[in-house]
Amino acid sequence: MPLIRGAPLAAAIEEEVRRGVEALTAKGLRPRLVAVKAGDDPASELYLKRQAKSAERLGLRYDVEDCQAHAGVSDVLATLARLNAAQDVTGIIVQLPLPAGIDVATVQRHLDPRKDVEGVHPANLGELLDANPALPPCTAAAIVECQRATGIPVAGLDAVVIGRSRIVGRPVALMLTARDATVTVCHRGTRDLAAHTARADLVVLAAGKAGMLTPAMVKPGCTVIDVGINEVERDGKRGITGDADPAIADVAGWFTPTPGGVGPVTVALLWRNAVAAARMQTG
Ligand code: NDP
Repeated sequence: MPLIRGAPLAAAIEEEVRRGVEALTAKGLRPRLVAVKAGDDPASELYLKRQAKSAERLGLRYDVEDCQAHAGVSDVLATLARLNAAQDVTGIIVQLPLPAGIDVATVQRHLDPRKDVEGVHPANLGELLDANPALPPCTAAAIVECQRATGIPVAGLDAVVIGRSRIVGRPVALMLTARDATVTVCHRGTRDLAAHTARADLVVLAAGKAGMLTPAMVKPGCTVIDVGINEVERDGKRGITGDADPAIADVAGWFTPTPGGVGPVTVALLWRNAVAAARMQTG
């Protein structure tokens, strides 16, 4: 069963990003990204370090603004206001999780939409209703890239998306609809999930529930794109798994592994958005 591996897809996007950064830098317009962090989540620290390394490799300037562990919403919004106004900052990332009590959507709404490299501001999400937004939400766009890698035309596919969050499930449903798939969005209120997945040519898993899609629930030969990230313990070791039962590999035609599937593509698309944002701001 063919795997949709994220690494080669990400490498191709990164090559395009490198060229984009070079072209902008040649004009004296080197993009600068700032990640805004609040709280003291250890996983975030690691993630930001990796992001900084990756940015450096691609020639992007990258800094972290630490609002400190006990930051409140006003501290985070004040930081965003400063970065929105700073001419040399071309992209802003809001690192999640934010401390308890800070509403993520409220913070994201305060980004300058032109600097919103994660594509999470309502103005950028709203662009999805029209066609291809300049700054699409990265994970949803990564799902589309993974599907494209199968070589199967999207038009006419019966697609089922499990999960309806504002940055993954709902945006990808709009993106697939725009590409002429017939899309069903499932969630916790869905009465009979298996009845929907059983007739799907494409299943997108974005629920965050390990093992929720079993081989018995899908049509043989279908494509399964698994966005879920779940921490599990196996043989006394902690690891990451997606939302699909790994045995799905026996029936699916195409399948994204976890880790190593959608994740690396998501990160590469963040850098693509970073170049697009810088280009837009510099005319
Ligand atoms: P959210 O928690 O915001 O949304 C989860 C969605 O799944 C909700 O719509 C929820 O339904 C639905 N859901 C949960 N359990 C079930 C169930 N048993 N049956 C049907 N629907 C269910 O998550 P996100 O969208 O932010 O992320 C989804 C997953 O993707 C997570 O595991 C996350 O870690 C991962 N992720 C991976 C990324 C990557 O690059 N690979 C990037 C971003 C996220 P309801 O609305 O009814 O509550």
